Amino acid sequence: MNAPDAQTLLPVSGRGVFYDGRSAAHHDVIVELAPQTLRMHAEDGSVLAEWPYDALETHSAPQGLLRLGTAGNPVLARLEIKDPRLIAAIDARSTPVDRAERIERRLRGKVIFWTIAATASLLLVAIVGVPLLAAEITPLIPYAIERKLGDTVDAQARAMLDTDHQGAAFECGNAASERAGRAAFDKLIAALQAGAALPFPLNVMVVRKKDANAITLPGGHIYVFAGLIDKAQSADELAGVIAHEMGHAAHRDSTRTLVESAGLSFLFGMLLGDFFGGGAVIYTSKTILQTSYSRAVEAAADAYSVRLMRRIGGDPRALGTILTRIAGSTHPGPKILIDHPETPDRVAAIERLAGSGQTRPLLDSADWAALKTICSGA
Ligand SMILES: [Zn+2]
Repeated sequence: MNAPDAQTLLPVSGRGVFYDGRSAAHHDVIVELAPQTLRMHAEDGSVLAEWPYDALETHSAPQGLLRLGTAGNPVLARLEIKDPRLIAAIDARSTPVDRAERIERRLRGKVIFWTIAATASLLLVAIVGVPLLAAEITPLIPYAIERKLGDTVDAQARAMLDTDHQGAAFECGNAASERAGRAAFDKLIAALQAGAALPFPLNVMVVRKKDANAITLPGGHIYVFAGLIDKAQSADELAGVIAHEMGHAAHRDSTRTLVESAGLSFLFGMLLGDFFGGGAVIYTSKTILQTSYSRAVEAAADAYSVRLMRRIGGDPRALGTILTRIAGSTHPGPKILIDHPETPDRVAAIERLAGSGQTRPLLDSADWAALKTICSGA
């Protein structure tokens, strides 16, 4: 007599709760164990998500609850299951050995680092409070972790910036008529990156927003708004602003804001193996978009821009020129680049650091004319 196959006794569907990772809302779902994938159906039968078994990842959860996500997915979608028989059925179908090993590997490194960080942070909180703590902790965060946090915040911040819900078209440079502009922009960015030699890669993109602004998120994501390119009268002016944003990235200013705003919950959330709950990501992304930096932080990014522009043979004063031009015409909204009353002081400091002397334009006139068309399509 053959013993019945354990799998045939287990259910092939059951109930769960699905969090899409983009909003705080949760959905009661029917979980279907398809041959290769786990499918989540809404009440109306539509498929909300479908995850291959070999990509499943377990996250820390209270006793008796299985909390699943997928590997390498910056969106924090989660599925929670309480039914022990359904949990057993999922375990039987996925590859628990690989899963356990992968998670253990990730946790080991994370726990060692965050145990040290959390201990240090508790001491620091006791002594000096959170802002200084953030300044002390931020330089200790490995770039790989900043990158992962950055990707999470980026997905959320991008959705917040894309107020007209343009989706993929939010980014300039992909339409056929914008390709030449994109090529010229990439050339300018390559020159800046070569000069900066940062220890992590940047992701610099132009987006369809009319404000003359730019913003840097953790993990090296830099958004240049179309309105800034409209206002720029030379490639060097644009480069000066982007170099200023690269200064924020190099100084990890937005990462510090993230640690400050998310605080200890962030550290302990990391320690427990889950980066954030969905609500914390939304709150943190909003804070990063709305923060204006102190005068000292802006001055340091300006000084970085001057040094970088000089290193690559550009005009280090061009940043001051464009700041002066846009200071009178700012829109409400994230004040990342401009702080009105301080603009004349900033420009004076930039000019003092930059000195005088002739420079050659970073892009020739044909490339600059092309770059101006990077948001012309769509
Ligand atoms: Zn700035």
